[in-house]
Amino acid sequence: MKSLKNYLLILISFLSYNVFAQKNTPQKKVVFIIVDGIAEDMLSKAEIPNLNRIKKDGALLQAYVGGEKGGYSETPTISAVGYNSLLTGTWVNKHNVFGNDIKAPNYSYPTVFRLFKNQFPNKKTAVFSTWEDNRTKLIGENLDATGKIKMDFSYDGMEKDTVNFPHDTQSQYIRKIDSVVVNKAASYISQNAPDMSWIYLEFTDDMGHRHGNGDILYKAISYEDRLIGKIYDAVKEREAKHGEDWLFVVTTDHGRSASNGKGHGGQSDRERNTWIAINKPTLNTYAKNNRVAITDILPTITDFMGIKVPVAVRQEIDGIDLLKNRTAYQLKVSLSPDKILEVTWKTANPSTELAEVYITDTNNFKNGGTDSYQLVGKANLSTGKFTSKLKTDHSDIYKVVLKTKEGFLNTWITKHTK
Ligand SMILES: [Zn+2]
Repeated sequence: MKSLKNYLLILISFLSYNVFAQKNTPQKKVVFIIVDGIAEDMLSKAEIPNLNRIKKDGALLQAYVGGEKGGYSETPTISAVGYNSLLTGTWVNKHNVFGNDIKAPNYSYPTVFRLFKNQFPNKKTAVFSTWEDNRTKLIGENLDATGKIKMDFSYDGMEKDTVNFPHDTQSQYIRKIDSVVVNKAASYISQNAPDMSWIYLEFTDDMGHRHGNGDILYKAISYEDRLIGKIYDAVKEREAKHGEDWLFVVTTDHGRSASNGKGHGGQSDRERNTWIAINKPTLNTYAKNNRVAITDILPTITDFMGIKVPVAVRQEIDGIDLLKNRTAYQLKVSLSPDKILEVTWKTANPSTELAEVYITDTNNFKNGGTDSYQLVGKANLSTGKFTSKLKTDHSDIYKVVLKTKEGFLNTWITKHTK
């Protein structure tokens, strides 16, 4: 009798603990949307009530694509290149997708979906897209090189269906596919609430290429804004009904040419300058005071979702979190002819921490191998600077990492010619 009583007490406390835990730790979920080819300045020319609604809940940030202009990470402002910078949190010198033909992606740099599935194999992923290659080539579904990752739900490939979506010269079929993709995404999210979803919409880029600056393009932006609103409604409804905590991020893959808004691919400000809408108001100091990068989206998602990214991967990611506090950012390095290594970084907040500077003279990571980093020294984080004399400078590449208690920053020294 006594043991039964004890058993019941334990059972009751266990049950009430579970109810308590569920009430106090809402399930976290994420949706990210890429709307193709909308330069930052174009947002002010279009009606965008839904992006403004997200801005009111969180923020609409100035952002950029294209890596470091003129530097080793300079990245073409081309569609698939931009998508993969978001998916991997790295620039083109790492992910290796230089164009829309997606010739040889370097799957050593895992996408956010792989990082997620590696830790949470039973949680659900989804992709809703007007371009099938996003799943088959960038995410690399079923490929050996990606560990045969599988999406739990995918809705794409309609651009190849010329029966139901006959191709016309004005891209009305793409307009229609974007809408079909969004209707599916909104209803699927509303009913099934996948843990991590990617939605990709294309119509704006088609209108940009065809018509450039002007009302046709601005109306296309408003059209996509209405579609974004449908997905945001679905997410808000989930939050209200089920108490889930959703991160909602919308961005674009590149801007457009300065002259007429038709082209893209180069490094002009208008092609590089983009935007990120995020529904969380709790931005860190870095995000509040800087033009943020498309590569910052991956670490923002992994931290929000509680994904433990392996150290070797964290040492390669080029972006930093927009929500969780990050004191140091923008790491740079130079090596003088007399082998003086100078490392600099910016700081968002004062700090008394000692940061550690590491260096390696290999890049085995890109081939799936390991790099062994050596500690060069420590520096007061708030000084933003570290110098040291290297014993040798024989290598064509040095990878430098700044380690703080909040995470890693990395940068390269490369010898382009020898
Ligand atoms: Zn594009």
